[in-house]
This record gives sequence, structure tokens and C-alpha cells, in this order.
Amino acid sequence: MRLSFKGGIHPLRERHEGKNASKGQPIRAYIPQSVCIPMDMHIGAPSAPVVAKGDRVKMGQVIATAVGGIGIPVHASVSGEVVAVSQKQLLGKNPSTCVEIRNDLQDEWTELTPLGEAETAPAERIIQAVRDAGICGMGGACFPTHAKMSLPEGKSVDTVILNGAECETFLTSDHRLMLEEPGRVVDGLRLIMRAMKVSRGFIAVEENKMDAVKAMQEAARGREGVSVVVLKTKYPQGGEKQLIEAVTGRQVPSGGLPMDAHVNVFNVGTAAAVADAVILGRPLVSRVTTVTGCVKEPANLLLRIGTPVQEAIDAAGGCSEEPGKVFLGGSMTGIAMPDTSMPMTKANNGIVVMGQKEAVVAPPTPCIRCARCLAACPIRLNPQRLKELCDQQDYAKAKKEHVMDCIVCGACSYVCPAKLELSPAFKEAKDKITARRI
Ligand code: SF4
Ligand code: SF4
Repeated sequence: MRLSFKGGIHPLRERHEGKNASKGQPIRAYIPQSVCIPMDMHIGAPSAPVVAKGDRVKMGQVIATAVGGIGIPVHASVSGEVVAVSQKQLLGKNPSTCVEIRNDLQDEWTELTPLGEAETAPAERIIQAVRDAGICGMGGACFPTHAKMSLPEGKSVDTVILNGAECETFLTSDHRLMLEEPGRVVDGLRLIMRAMKVSRGFIAVEENKMDAVKAMQEAARGREGVSVVVLKTKYPQGGEKQLIEAVTGRQVPSGGLPMDAHVNVFNVGTAAAVADAVILGRPLVSRVTTVTGCVKEPANLLLRIGTPVQEAIDAAGGCSEEPGKVFLGGSMTGIAMPDTSMPMTKANNGIVVMGQKEAVVAPPTPCIRCARCLAACPIRLNPQRLKELCDQQDYAKAKKEHVMDCIVCGACSYVCPAKLELSPAFKEAKDKITARRI
């Protein structure tokens, strides 16, 4: 049986999926000459640097400490010399403090302290080990993982779902991780389940990755409480609410969180990082990122955190034509970069280069009230009505009509024949409602 949710779109059926170029490419490591590591890669207060220009650091050494309750530390992703601690402009953020390290190419690790194996590590110490390793949601959410694993008073969870849907167009990094490192993913799931005292764990994978399903099933064999489920290939199948609905049949209430449906969801890459943190004592210093689109050698690269995006593109053979746009993330939810010298962060699962022709956006025309956006919306909102309210800047009314529940998936914009920029308008409305406390 293939599990799914109501609404959504089918980029695969419409041949816009874009995964073929990189899905067969094994993960390969790329070592940068230098890294520029931002202090605010996660949700919560930026970390506080504890190194200065001229310091020598080892790989995995703490270079910034956690600030605030949900804060996490940041670690050196190469060994070498700190050449600057300065402010840099990052994508979609205010200028951020970054630590630049020149790589000595020795990969000399700091001393690591493993906690134990997946089934024997002391359960009460797992969450602290995850915090110390600086792990945040690697599917793009960037929410600190230890905070997600620590439930507030009165809340309970009976199910953990690992998100291996990877429904976003172009991206294949999770696919390759599940195919090549399924044991790490299952170990991470078991550690999360043990720390949260949850007996039921699912690894949910879309049916366009049956090789990964098989690899995960083999790795999960004999592991207590772990099952692999197959999802329909549909966008946004990997949205938390859609995943929970598909796997458990439960609905997350409007304005609620997965824990309100007694479920917690983690990305498969996050689970693998949890396994590294506990079993090897390794902090999060690298991640798998798909580099694809108009590049000569589409690839799934194991990149050090802080690698400049342009270097990653060059590691994939460079651009195959004059680029029109470079996205961090897939084409549905990715953000266009103004400057490819910016560094990649813990959340960056993809770099997609679009040619000049593909990057041209058709001009919008008036709404023809076809209702396609209503049928596509996985949250069952009325995008056409919400757009009218956003155009009128009537954010109070838009809030009443649940714009805050919009997950900015872009499904409505994708199907709109009038080429209206629906989801960007909803993102702006959500930001304004939050900033103005409407
Ligand atoms: S899909 Fe576009 S044209 Fe059709 S109703 Fe929605 S906003 Fe209007
Ligand atoms: S962007 Fe928002 S309104 Fe549009 S389909 Fe996604 S959830 Fe619905």
C-alpha cells in the first residue's frame, strides 16, 4: 500500500522532478581550501565565538558556544588556522558573525568522546550528546534537534517518523544517504526513540526510491519497533503535517505542532548525525548536498559546513552554461542566491543551478478562478482568496483565513495558469503578521 495525503502535485508525472541527473551519483567528499562558518545556522540565538584570528583549531573543536535554552554550539569543520572572525551577509538573513578557517588539509580531529552503541548508550545522556554535537534539522528546518527531542511538560509522543520522502524537486542527497548509509540512519532512529522513550518508529520513503526502501528494510531488520513505509510520490509529501497524515492517519491541528498529534518527525540526515554524535562522539561538521541543474557533473557531495557555494559548484564540474539563477534547495522551496561566494550551512541539502532560459519567470496575468490552487493545497487553504487579501494588505483577515497555516510549499504557484506568485505573497504575509504581532 502506498501512503499519502489529500491535495498536492505530481512533478514526476509532469517531468519536472529533475532528479535523474544526480540520483545515480554516489556520495563523494569534497575538501575545501577554507571554510566560512556562520554562527546562526539554527533557529534560536546565534552561537558565541570562542576563537580569535590566529588561533589554530582541530576538526570538531568547539569554535562557538550555545546561547540560550535551544542554542547549539558550532564546531570547526576543518583543521587549520582561524583567519577571520567577522560579519558576513548570509542568504535571507541579517549580516551574521562567521569564523573563517584556512584548511591545513591535515583533518586532525579534536579528542572525541563516544557515548556508546545505538542499543546500549545511556538513554538519559543521548539528548545532551545531540546538543553538544550542534545538530539541527538537516531537512532545511534548522530547528535544534535536542530541543525537538525534549518535550514540554504535559506533551507526549508515541511515534517517531524519519522523513526520507525527499519530495522536493532536484534533490537526491537523502536518497543517496539512505542507499549508502542505511545503518547510520536506523541507528539514529533507535537512539531518538530510546531517548524519547518511544516504541514505534517509521522510516518513510517515496516510491520513486525503491532501492533506498530496500536498503532501509534490510538495515531495519531485527531492530526493535522500526518499520519502513512507502509513500506515494507526490509533493509536498515530506511536509511534516502531510507525512504524519500519510503515515499515522492523524491530523496536526491548525496552529499546532507534530507533538500535538503525538508524533515527532526528523529528517534522515538528522538521524545519521545523531548516530555519529552518540556512537562516534563526532559533532556535525559535514553534510551531503546535491549539486545539480546546469552543472557539468551533477553530484551528491559530502561538504564541510562553511564551504563556499561556488566551490561546491566547481566541484561538480562548474556551470555547463551561463547561469540564470542559483538556488539553495530545490526549485519548489529553494531560495535564489544573489552571491555564490556565500557559505553552505547545516541546512543546505541542495544547490541547483538554472540556465538563463529556465530562470525566466512568466509575467502574471489576472486570476481566471480555475480553482486549481485549491485542489493542490495540501493544507486545504484557499490560495486564490488569500492572494486577494495579501494584495489588499489585509493581513488581519488573511490570518483569520489561516494564512499562518500555509507551509509555503509553492504547490499553488506551480499549478496556477495565471502564473500568480501565490506562495511568495503568503510568506511575506506570515512574516508581516509575526513582525507586527497582528
Ligand atoms: S490557480 Fe491561479 S488562476 Fe486558478 S484560481 Fe488559483 S489563483 Fe486563480
Ligand atoms: S504555498 Fe501555502 S497556500 Fe499554497 S499550496 Fe502550499 S500550503 Fe497551500
